[in-house]
Amino acid sequence: MTVLASGSKGNSMVVSSARTRILVDAGLSCRELFKRMRLAEEDPATLDAILITHEHQDHVQGLAVTARKLGIPVYFTEATHRAWMRWMAPAKRMTYADWLKSRAEAGARDQGLGTRDQGAEHGAQGTGIRDEDGLGCEAAVVEEIERVEEVAEVDPCRLPGVEYFRAGSGFCIGDIGVTAFTIPHDAADPVGFVLEADGVRIGLATDLGYVPPNVRQQLRNCDVLMIESNHDLEMLRDGPYPWSVKQRVMSRVGHLSNEATAGFLENDYDGHASYVVLAHLSESNNLPELAQVAAEWALRERMNLLVNKLVLARQHEPIGSICL
Ligand SMILES: [Zn+2]
Ligand SMILES: [Zn+2]
Repeated sequence: MTVLASGSKGNSMVVSSARTRILVDAGLSCRELFKRMRLAEEDPATLDAILITHEHQDHVQGLAVTARKLGIPVYFTEATHRAWMRWMAPAKRMTYADWLKSRAEAGARDQGLGTRDQGAEHGAQGTGIRDEDGLGCEAAVVEEIERVEEVAEVDPCRLPGVEYFRAGSGFCIGDIGVTAFTIPHDAADPVGFVLEADGVRIGLATDLGYVPPNVRQQLRNCDVLMIESNHDLEMLRDGPYPWSVKQRVMSRVGHLSNEATAGFLENDYDGHASYVVLAHLSESNNLPELAQVAAEWALRERMNLLVNKLVLARQHEPIGSICL
C-alpha cells in the first residue's frame, strides 16, 4: 500500500496484491499522479483499475484523464458516477441550455446520460462538491488545462470502462476482495473500503463526520487501518474558514477531528493493525504533531511500538510503501 497523497488538496493511493494493482481515488492531476507513482517506484502502466470513494474534487481531480491514459475501468457506485458526471460537465463554464446542446452533439455515449435531471444544473454550480476548503493548487491548474484541452475533442465524462458496485456489498477486482461500506459524509453516496488479498486486510475510512457502528464493524481485524484525523477543533474554530464551512467540517457529515479519531482509537479500535495510518490531515486546521500526539495518547496502552506503527500520510509527497 502506497499513499501518494492525502489531504483536502488531493487523495490517492495504490494498493497491490501479488497479481492486481488498484488506484484508490485519483485526486491529483494525472501528471502529478504518475510523477508520484514513479517517485514511489510504482509503474502507472501496471494499474488494473481505479476505485472511487466519492465525487469530491480532492478524490477525483485526475480521474478521467488517468483512466483514459491507462485504458482501465473505474469502479464507483452509480450515484457517485452520476454526481461525478455532473461535476465534470462543462456546464459551470456555460449556460445549462448550451451544455445540453454540447452533450447532444457529443453523443449519448455515456451510461446514465438519460438519467440526468434538473439537479444537474444545481450540482454543476459546485454546491457541496468541493471538499473542505476546495482550494486550488498547482495540480488542479494543470488538470484544468488538460481538461479544457480535452473538452474540445473528447466527451469529458468518457471513461474506458465503468463498473458499478453498491455500498454494503463485496466484489472482486482481480484477486483483491473489496468491501464497500457507507460512511457519513456530504457526498452523493460516499464509501470506505476494506481490501483483502493474500490474507492481508486493509481498512480505509476517510471523509466521515463520525464513526457509526457499521464502520466500526468493518474496521475490525485490519492489518492496516487508514483513518482520517482531519482537524484540531480549536484550530478549526479559530482558523480562517468562513463559519458555514467550519460548521460543515464539524458536522455529522463532515470530517473526523483529532479528538474524534483518538476517541475511536481508544474505545472502538481492536488494536489488531500492524500499521495505523492517520490521513486527510487539514493543512489549514491541523498540525501533524497534534494528530500524532492525540493518536499516540489514545493508543498508549495497546500499541506495542516494536510491532505496531503509527504513520502519518502526507499531502505533498508519497509516504514509503507499507508492505505486508
Ligand atoms: Zn469528501
Ligand atoms: Zn476528501
